[in-house]
Amino acid sequence: MDTAWVAWTTVVLVTAAAAIALAVVVRRRDRSSARAARTDALTGLGNRDALAERVGRLLAGGGEPGLLLLDLDGFREINDTLGHSAGDALLRQVAGVLDRTVAGTGQVTRLGGDEFAVLVPGPVRGEDLEVLAKRVLAGLSMGQFTSGPVPLDVQGSIGIALAGPDGSSGEELLQHADVAMYAAKHARAGVLRYDPAHDPHSTNALEVLGQLRRAMEEDELVVHYQPKVSGGGGGQLLGFEALVRWQHPTRGLLPPAAFLPLVERTRLIHPLTRWVLLTAVRQAATWRAQGLDTTISVNISAATLDEGLLGMVEEALALTRWPAPQLVLEITETAIVIDPDGARRAVQRLRDRGVRVSVDDFGAGATSLVHLRGLAVHELKVDRQFVTELMAHPEDEVIVSSVIALAHRLGLVVVAEGVEDPVTAERLRAMGCDELQGYLFARPLPAAEALRWAREEFGARTGREAAGTVEHPAGEPA
Ligand code: C2E
Ligand code: CA
Ligand code: CA
Repeated sequence: MDTAWVAWTTVVLVTAAAAIALAVVVRRRDRSSARAARTDALTGLGNRDALAERVGRLLAGGGEPGLLLLDLDGFREINDTLGHSAGDALLRQVAGVLDRTVAGTGQVTRLGGDEFAVLVPGPVRGEDLEVLAKRVLAGLSMGQFTSGPVPLDVQGSIGIALAGPDGSSGEELLQHADVAMYAAKHARAGVLRYDPAHDPHSTNALEVLGQLRRAMEEDELVVHYQPKVSGGGGGQLLGFEALVRWQHPTRGLLPPAAFLPLVERTRLIHPLTRWVLLTAVRQAATWRAQGLDTTISVNISAATLDEGLLGMVEEALALTRWPAPQLVLEITETAIVIDPDGARRAVQRLRDRGVRVSVDDFGAGATSLVHLRGLAVHELKVDRQFVTELMAHPEDEVIVSSVIALAHRLGLVVVAEGVEDPVTAERLRAMGCDELQGYLFARPLPAAEALRWAREEFGARTGREAAGTVEHPAGEPA
């Protein structure tokens, strides 16, 4: 055989072998890096890409999977207070609990941050997904999570979307589960299935938002006013809380629950807040001119709690010459939990301006007490759920009296909302609650009725008659 030919063949074979070996190595590395690309490094669960791939595969095969999207409540606070490694350790513990809870039914992935998804291959019914979601939340609340010796209370909100009725592509399912999760968090419902009414992108919602934009221009929005009275003996009218309603041309008087959750997901919440603030302060100034001098409280959504708010407040105060200390802005405890640092800064800015800030729905959020630290508020409103059934549940009484004691030690005023009967009112007074609000005294009333009510109940203390009250057409349904 020709030696040159042998040498050449050898070179070719060796080169080919090397190329094959290299290709195998590369492919192996490709495969493991593809796996790594779909694995969440922190928890070892699949990640967002893994979920997208799995959902895609199920849908392509004609499957009808269900998706649960879980977001932890108050995780950011844990991260900020205990540090990132404690946060990471908690996420790993949560991943483990989730994995065990849904084992055999669904597959857990981590979407990022404190967001997890559970994919249920299906076919599955919406009711079954709800049961599973509640099991997941129950699993979390029994999770006995810890950071070193510190026990951590972990709760979450879950949104559900089911392939078919709630979406046809993986992307749509994920987006709709996210909308439902956000609605669940907002309503403090724990678990909610996707509902186009909560979705600012759905056709129906776009229509409602369009109508609402017009409603603001055409004065279809109205503000009703609910009084706050003193808890102490004698009883005094202390102020009014402004509560927005929509006098819809065909659907009648709509409560905030019918449109606010939707508005809060869009930028429309800013002009709405500005309108309510200005209307309420203007009304209070009119009342003062009529001899009824009180404070006015306005609710502020989490989304508006940034720099823009101070501008709106300045505007309302300047236009009405209303004294800042007689304006109370109510922000929910949930808003504080969602962004504790942002809330702290916003509250401080308001306080510097002399405006008072109230923590609304106190006790409804997960890790209440932590959030009060360093927060320059002056008032605490005990959540309605504890007040309304105060007499029926002895443990609510313990909670309310502890909150009152704590708030007083922090120098805060305590308001109980949702007071519906005289026995509860008496009990709250005995506990030292400073201010009371609820149907027992009055429902939220149109401005003219609120003035009339104030004069009837507190006649001598509300001064003389004068003209100029803004008339609203509708009363509150009893
Ligand atoms: P909130 O701030 O906790 O307001 C108290 C709610 O409880 C009001 O419902 C009020 O009508 C109701 N309420 C008052 N007394 C009683 C009672 O004795 N028993 C019971 N069961 N309920 C009572 P409403 O007016 O439907 O408002 C619901 C929520 O909508 C408010 O809860 C507040 O979070 C929000 N909201 C209302 N107006 C505005 C607004 O102008 N801006 C923003 N951002 N949110 C608003
Ligand atoms: Ca309120
Ligand atoms: Ca409240």
